Amino acid sequence: MILTDLNAPGGIGANCLLLQFDGLNIVIDAGIHPKMTGPEALPRIDRLKDIRLDLIFLTHSHLDHLGALPVLARDHPSTPIVMSHDTGQFYRRMLQNSCTVMERQRMEFGIAGYPLYSYRDITICHRQVIALHPGHARHFEGDSGDRISFTLHRSGHIPGAMGILLEYRHRKILHTGDVLFSDTRLLDGARFPEETVDTVILETTRGATARRASRESEMERLLECIEKTTSRGGSILIPTFALGRMQELIAVLHAARQEGRLRNLPVFVSGLGIDLLNQFDRISRGTSTLRIRRKMMRELGAVKLPGTHRPGRERPAIYLLSSGMMVENTPSYGAAEALLGTHRNTIAFVGYCDPDTPGGRLLATPHGENFLFKAPGKSVPALAQIEKFDLSSHADREELLDFARAREPRRIVLTHGDPGARAWFKDHLEDESGDERVVNPSPLQAVKV
Ligand SMILES: [Zn+2]
Ligand SMILES: [Zn+2]
Repeated sequence: MILTDLNAPGGIGANCLLLQFDGLNIVIDAGIHPKMTGPEALPRIDRLKDIRLDLIFLTHSHLDHLGALPVLARDHPSTPIVMSHDTGQFYRRMLQNSCTVMERQRMEFGIAGYPLYSYRDITICHRQVIALHPGHARHFEGDSGDRISFTLHRSGHIPGAMGILLEYRHRKILHTGDVLFSDTRLLDGARFPEETVDTVILETTRGATARRASRESEMERLLECIEKTTSRGGSILIPTFALGRMQELIAVLHAARQEGRLRNLPVFVSGLGIDLLNQFDRISRGTSTLRIRRKMMRELGAVKLPGTHRPGRERPAIYLLSSGMMVENTPSYGAAEALLGTHRNTIAFVGYCDPDTPGGRLLATPHGENFLFKAPGKSVPALAQIEKFDLSSHADREELLDFARAREPRRIVLTHGDPGARAWFKDHLEDESGDERVVNPSPLQAVKV
C-alpha cells in the first residue's frame, strides 16, 4: 500500500489520506483546516484530479474530516462515499452550517473563494453516499477488477464516528479515526475488533498530554463548580462545541436534575447544537448506543437563549452556548462579555481551546487583567472565575498505545496529531521493537507501508 497524507501543513489540520493499492485508490476523510481560511484550508485534493478514485470514506462529521467533502465529490462525481448510517443522518447539517459561516465570512472579511461549495454541491454530494451500519463487512470491486473488503467499527468519539477495517489480499489495515474508548452519558465508547492486523493507522491527538483524571470525575467537578457558582449568586457560562459535547452536557445536566441537583436553575442553550439534538433524538430511537432524547431539554427546563436576554442581569443561570473556543460573534462570546467582569460568575471551558482563539486568550489572561473583546472593541476586567475541565473526546495516549500494541501490527502509521504528540508515540512504540515499524508520514510524500 502507498500512503500519502494530503494535509499539507502537517499536524491535525485538514485530514485527508490517500491509500493506493495495486488497482484501487481510496481516500479517507476530506477535512478543512480549522486555523486557515479560503482555498488554503483545503487538503491538496487538487493532486487527486487526474487519479481515478474508487472509494471515499468519511470517518466522522467534524469539519477537520468532513469540511472539504463536497469539493472532493465535485471532482469525483461517480466515486461512492462510505460513511456510517448515523453520520448519514446529520453530516449535511454540519456542511450547511459551514457553508453559511463561509458566506458570512466572505461578506465580512472579503475572503476570496468563499464559500468553497454551495448548498447545491452538498445535495449533489449526498447522491454518492452509501450509509452503512457498523460491524458488517462489505466487498467492493473497482473498475480495474481489483477487490477490497471493508467494515466500519464504532470509534466512540462523537455520534456516528467510525474506524475502518480494510482487508486487501489477506492484509488487514485498521484506520482508527478519532477515538474515545470510554462510554459517556451520551454515547458508547469505541468497539473495535480484537483481532491482530497488519497495519494500524493511529490517531495521536493526545500524544503530548498526560493521562487525565477520569472523565467521570471531571464531570463531577464541573457539576460542583456549577453548584458553587450559582449558590454564591453567580451565573456560569460553558462555551460548548455544538456536535457531541453540547448534547452530552444536556444529558449530564438532565441526569443531575433527576438526582435532585441543580434545582430551579434556568438553563440556556443555543444554535446548531439544538438542531443536532433533534437529529440525535431520531437516531437514539433505533439504538441503545446513543442516549439523548429531545424530551430531556423539556425535563431540564432548558430553553433557547432569547436574543434580548442579557446574561448576568437576572437570577443565576447555566449558559450552554456555542462556540467551544468562544470565537467572535458567537453566543458564547457575547455571554462572556456580559459575565466576565463580575467575581461571582464562572466561565468553564470543557474542550480544547486553540491559543489564538478568544477562548485560548482568555485562559491565558491573569485574573483581574483587562480582556479585550475585539468584536465590539470593549475591554472587560477578567474578574469571573475561569475554569478548565478535561472532557476531551479523544482517548488517552496510554489507551491508544495499549490498543495498538495488542493488534500486533507490522506497521503503525501515525496520523491526526501535532509533531510533539506523534513524537511521543514514535518514542514509545519504537523503544520496544527497535525496528522501523512506526511510520510518521511527511505531508504530500508517498510512503510505502
Ligand atoms: Zn473529531
Ligand atoms: Zn479530528
